[in-house]
Amino acid sequence: MKKILARAAVYLFVFVLTGFVVFCTNIFYGGPRAAILMYHSVGAPNGQTTCLDVSEQDFARQMAFLHARGFRVIRLTDLAALLRRGEKAGAGTVVITFDDGYDNNYTKAFPILKKYGFPATIFVIAGRLGKDYDVAKGVPGRIVTPQMMQEMVASGLVDIGSHTTSHYYLPEVRDASLLWEELRGSKIFLEAVVGAPVASLSYPLGGYRRSTEEMARRAGYEAAVTTSKKDGGSDTDLFALRRIRISKSSRHMFIFFLEASGYYPHLKGLSR
Ligand SMILES: [Zn+2]
Repeated sequence: MKKILARAAVYLFVFVLTGFVVFCTNIFYGGPRAAILMYHSVGAPNGQTTCLDVSEQDFARQMAFLHARGFRVIRLTDLAALLRRGEKAGAGTVVITFDDGYDNNYTKAFPILKKYGFPATIFVIAGRLGKDYDVAKGVPGRIVTPQMMQEMVASGLVDIGSHTTSHYYLPEVRDASLLWEELRGSKIFLEAVVGAPVASLSYPLGGYRRSTEEMARRAGYEAAVTTSKKDGGSDTDLFALRRIRISKSSRHMFIFFLEASGYYPHLKGLSR
């Protein structure tokens, strides 16, 4: 009996808290924003994952959920265009992105995206195409090949974005010509590989300065994304768009629902 009461209290607390956040977001923040989801590896073998990776099954369930609940999944460049016009995407709008460009984005995630006709942007480390890339803690992953990228772009669903050439933490790169090469050089290289515009940039590890934003703009990008963790980010700054980190805990569908809802940053803000 005690257990049931305790569980009921937790549910009631979550329900009231969610209602409070929805109320505050609508009143004080002009309503929810589009949720830009940040994925990394999808379906890496057991023992080769980090907390940011999701299993193929979880990814499939999450996409099925977005489809079943009528979420509007749009391209990152379409969201950028909308924001540039000063408009809001509003609740229920989702953008799907992947960082690093693991080849399981092609083998595991792409078939699921195709099933639902969901667009996505994959931010590829331009200097590692077809090679292994050791992510944090030395967990290996293979980066997509040019052929994989070309096939995904040809489908009309996937846009390739740049995750720079070398995945340096950009605030620590003092050499302006190296920084320019990381931003502009990776864009030109990837565009030549896929034969399509590379319009967006993802700052490695979410790291950027105001000067990085400026340089990204000069390098010809339409938008750049960060993470919500270290460097803040914004819902309206086209060169520092914050994203929602999808991680192992997102396997709980209520958490995923909150993350995709557009209310999550405000809910997270309350817990800080
Ligand atoms: Zn990365």
